[in-house]
Amino acid sequence: MPRKGLLLHRGNMICEVIVDIAHSEVDKVFEYVSDVSVAPGTRVAVPFGASVATGFVIREKERSDYPAEKLKHILRAEDARPAINTECLELAKKIAARYRVPMALALRLFLPAEMRKGKVAETYRTFARFLGDVPTQNAPRQAACLAYLREHGEADAAELRKQFGAAVNALVKKGGVALEKRRVLRDPYKEVAGESISRALTPAQARAVETVERTNKTVVLVHGVTGSGKTEVYLTLIARALERGQTAIFLVPEISLTPQMLSQLRARFGSLAAIMHSGLSAGERFDEWQRLREGDARIAIGARSAVFVPVENVGVIVLDEEHDGSYSSESAPRYNTFDIALLRAKFNGCKLVLGSATPSVETYKRAMDGEFELVRMPDRINARPLPDVNLVDMRREVKRGNASPFSAALRDRLASCLAEGQQAILFLNRRGYSQTVLCRDCGYVAKCEHCDVSLTYHSEEDCLKCHYCGTKYKMLTACPVCGGHHICYAGTGTQRVVRDLQQLYPEARILRMDNDTTSGKEGHFRILKQFAERQADILVGTQMVAKGHDFPLVTLVGILDADMSLHFPDYRSNERTFQLVTQVAGRSGRGSEKGDVILQTYDPDNAILRYAAAYDYEGFYHHEINMRAALMFPPFARIVRVMVTGEEEKLALEALREVYEKLQRLYLTHGEDFLFFNRMHAPIRRIQGKHRYQVLMRLASDTLLAEIYDAASSVTRRDVLVYVEENPSNLS
Ligand code: ADP
Ligand code: ZN
Repeated sequence: MPRKGLLLHRGNMICEVIVDIAHSEVDKVFEYVSDVSVAPGTRVAVPFGASVATGFVIREKERSDYPAEKLKHILRAEDARPAINTECLELAKKIAARYRVPMALALRLFLPAEMRKGKVAETYRTFARFLGDVPTQNAPRQAACLAYLREHGEADAAELRKQFGAAVNALVKKGGVALEKRRVLRDPYKEVAGESISRALTPAQARAVETVERTNKTVVLVHGVTGSGKTEVYLTLIARALERGQTAIFLVPEISLTPQMLSQLRARFGSLAAIMHSGLSAGERFDEWQRLREGDARIAIGARSAVFVPVENVGVIVLDEEHDGSYSSESAPRYNTFDIALLRAKFNGCKLVLGSATPSVETYKRAMDGEFELVRMPDRINARPLPDVNLVDMRREVKRGNASPFSAALRDRLASCLAEGQQAILFLNRRGYSQTVLCRDCGYVAKCEHCDVSLTYHSEEDCLKCHYCGTKYKMLTACPVCGGHHICYAGTGTQRVVRDLQQLYPEARILRMDNDTTSGKEGHFRILKQFAERQADILVGTQMVAKGHDFPLVTLVGILDADMSLHFPDYRSNERTFQLVTQVAGRSGRGSEKGDVILQTYDPDNAILRYAAAYDYEGFYHHEINMRAALMFPPFARIVRVMVTGEEEKLALEALREVYEKLQRLYLTHGEDFLFFNRMHAPIRRIQGKHRYQVLMRLASDTLLAEIYDAASSVTRRDVLVYVEENPSNLS
């Protein structure tokens, strides 16, 4: 293997290099001369203008069209082994072309950011190793130190020096002890240990595994109810890939939310599993990436960015909770994880396994159409019943004079749950104390200065917070417009629910889990661990509590306001609501006791809620797909939004006009492709001080997609961002 900085083979080669500057002006291939061969994917240092830049060799060739004396020389290779493997290099090219981003930006997806900045280096530690006995008369510390090493073989030198001081070096001098510097890898999840449970697969699980391995289709959708044992199916498929000498990629929406999953993986695969997620420190990320590239780790587990890991010979790719919105990237390139995973599955000739209790309508349609293989797991493990879902009409509660966030039915059930020593989860999709703060006299609503959104009151800090930019404001004592003192808090948030609960059940131990309580890498872990260890009776939280948790003592789930997500300005709001209700409900009754769900709504006849309450995915799907077909929404059409945002309104409007004119030309010449075409303010007109405009389109086919990307990327204004979103999961 070539050492760092050294290159093999003599002879003048021409290298095509992408310089790592993500500017459209330099988005082209530069040619350099190298007197040795450099494998494609290798990072190199090259002269660029007056300075030195990092670049990636993407191709090697014999000759250039430029005269040789005009070409500069590659200065050195940065890594011993190409940072980007052949497959990933091809992928980067496809991503750059598909999403119209500079190649440098596409390549960056494949590297830990820390590596690019050259900030983290490998960490080394010095170990003291026992070599043999040496005389230690009149030196009791040396004798003790030597005895210690004789027994343990070796120890961390720094630790040893703390205990034995200069004796360590004295022993080294005498030849009894050797010092060795060794590379150590940071282990981000040392604390997550678990027992290795090897279980026999249930017949349903075995059938699922078999179907995945037998089918000739690349994509398999595992549609299994919550608690049907999908995880075990994935783990078996991954273990089989390892047995075949292959690697695996396991994608999950947000890994920090599922410590149980982590400990299972660690228990089962030990250090063969590399865990990549956003909460890791720079050094930890780099080390995990390195272990994968070197083949020391052969399973990559992580959120969407883990789809770019440098593994080779991939045997299976799993995309768990495939319906989850976090699989779409919200910064350039705005890729969809499924699309990338599919490319990798095809390249490696392996299966892509999608799993969900509530598949997205688009995915399910593709399974219905026969494009994907479909595996059903309709029953919970051990035939445990799914919890009963009771719809409670909150209008009736209001009529009865109950203005609290809890219906009588929920209070009764909570009381019995607590009395029997069981646990409950209450779900509410709103953090903070109240949703809006308004003046009763004049109707003034407190809003953020930088964003076009109302502020939320946070009781713990006694302040108003903007949930879009995080700015905090002092609580109002009087209305700034009319001077009135009738300030009211409308809409209930998680903080208020906790306060009200504590008043109702003073004995109950209550935990809250939302964006405000889960900061830091350990935030989720801490709360979930406390709840799992029965240190609390009730867990109140936002959609974080809906994700795959498995708490056997939970027998009651309360959904406080099921209508919230129904009225979201988004074509997926029905789908979201169905998914959310099903997922939260699925947390109940996973142990030996049967569970209940209380679903509070102001719209008890709503078809979507009724399907969710009956666990009728098929019913929901047919209802929804018919509506989408009738209205021509995805998957029957594609929604494309070109966003224009900038701090200076004038510049943003200029850019908007320019991109609109280009798009309008498309619209006028290809009218038949457009179901909808208009420019307007984005629903939230300003976020973090940036004005937001959009050209919104609904397209009957994908044929114009490339031209739309071109139109957007051709508009460049100072300090204005213009970008394309396809079927955006958030149209705010
Ligand atoms: P899902 O991901 O489908 O919601 P899980 O994978 O969390 O379901 O499994 C539900 C429960 O069943 C978990 O507690 C898990 O430990 C248990 N389980 C899974 N497979 C088996 C099996 N083969 N035998 C016994 N218990 C199992
Ligand atoms: Zn704000």
